[in-house]
Amino acid sequence: MRRIFALLFTVAMVPAVFHVCFAEPPERAIFQISTMTAFKQGEYDGRTTFAQLKEHGDFGIGTVNELDGEMIALDGKFFQIKSDGTVHAIDDSEKTPFAMVTFFKADGNLRLSVENTRDFARLKETLDRFLPSTNPILAIRVDGEFTYVKVRSVPRQQKPYVKLEVALKNQTVFDLRNVRGSMVGFRFPSYMEGINDAGYHFHFITQDRKAGGHVLECGFKGLPVEIAGLSRFGMTLLSGPLFIKP
Ligand SMILES: [Zn+2]
Repeated sequence: MRRIFALLFTVAMVPAVFHVCFAEPPERAIFQISTMTAFKQGEYDGRTTFAQLKEHGDFGIGTVNELDGEMIALDGKFFQIKSDGTVHAIDDSEKTPFAMVTFFKADGNLRLSVENTRDFARLKETLDRFLPSTNPILAIRVDGEFTYVKVRSVPRQQKPYVKLEVALKNQTVFDLRNVRGSMVGFRFPSYMEGINDAGYHFHFITQDRKAGGHVLECGFKGLPVEIAGLSRFGMTLLSGPLFIKP
């Protein structure tokens, strides 16, 4: 009898424990490949395939193996914007050294409309003012007609890899005016600096999927800014075995 009770107790309790710890709905979870700190130091070798990345989200940003341009994912489709400005669909077998994804589902009560945003700094200020808390990680999506988007992309790197700040000296910048498209991004809280960059990070792609990149500046009038609060953070550090000299 005691054993039966113990068994029942176990069966009853395990799902409850897992519910508390692990059963966040997928749209509440963000998954990140590598740390921003490692990425900035020049760790551009991808070990995660896009097939694996897609298991964790259909929406996100990042880059492609060997820092080969900017990556943007929306509605389950993953795109690479190369430094020559061309846009390519990313094959599942390709790899990424740094990316973050979620299954995006906006929170109705955080849905905003930001009007007459003159530049990216203004957008950041405006969004911050509307946030009930700056502690959660946020996923953000803006769709519609943009009056201006200034984007950049970075050229593919070769070993020995240089730091990101050096690689960015060869970035190409594109001015897009009066274009329809989508901006995809995240806001990380200040306590996560290093794991990611604290603050906002957006990538953009035009509706015809022919241009885009990492957003440096943007402008739009009266577009809905969809925001999702994320409560679970997962990541892979990609570290190989450590070789420590005796
Ligand atoms: Zn970026």
